[in-house]
Amino acid sequence: MSETNKTAEELINERYVVEKEATCPVCESHFKHSIVRKIKIKNVGSDIDLRHYYEPVDPLYYDITTCSQCGYAADAIFFDTLKRAQRDKLVTELSKQYTSVKYPAVYTAKETLAMIKQAFFCADIKESLKSEKAYLCLKTAWLFRDLGDKEKEMKFLESAALGFEAAYTEEEFPICTMDNYTYRYLIGAINYLCGEYEKSSRWIYEIVAEQNINPRLKKRAEDLKNDLRQKIAEAAEKKKKEQ
Ligand SMILES: [Zn+2]
Repeated sequence: MSETNKTAEELINERYVVEKEATCPVCESHFKHSIVRKIKIKNVGSDIDLRHYYEPVDPLYYDITTCSQCGYAADAIFFDTLKRAQRDKLVTELSKQYTSVKYPAVYTAKETLAMIKQAFFCADIKESLKSEKAYLCLKTAWLFRDLGDKEKEMKFLESAALGFEAAYTEEEFPICTMDNYTYRYLIGAINYLCGEYEKSSRWIYEIVAEQNINPRLKKRAEDLKNDLRQKIAEAAEKKKKEQ
């Protein structure tokens, strides 16, 4: 679903994808990277784990910002928030191993996966929050979903679920820009996709019972609750037959 009906040239000429100037919080150099103008794109659907799809270009592919000078990479929502000690570590470690990479203006899954790999590397150096790495895992899973690689998608979804669950007990909201309800729904949804139905139901049933929740999210949670009931009943039936 990542396919676009416009060519790279059209996306640039029609200004769906534009260059943005940024200042690197690690090496302080100015660099340019591509972003999607969200005002121009149309949401055309979503999966249960809140992976939204857009036309004619998918902003997921532009979520990682990478400094072309020093190689510092992070999800744009975390890019600028560095503590002094994290910055110092990144300066030291990146200067040892980064060789400059030139990306084209329009990104495909190949470029985005390379940028995410570099973002994981930087997250380790800066000892990032668990949620930051979990979010990278989730986005990696979404890219492998686009590529049709089910095995890798599941592997990264499982890591995302574990990371988000650990972060839930340690971090303050908003986490990865999500409020408490959205975040808990997401953990339930990822566990559902991983086949962890009992675990998923613990998160989802609680969300359905919440009062102050956004109606659209509540509807999603209710739909998922119905699916979960069925899956759990099927699993119980199968177990009974096996005994
Ligand atoms: Zn830099």
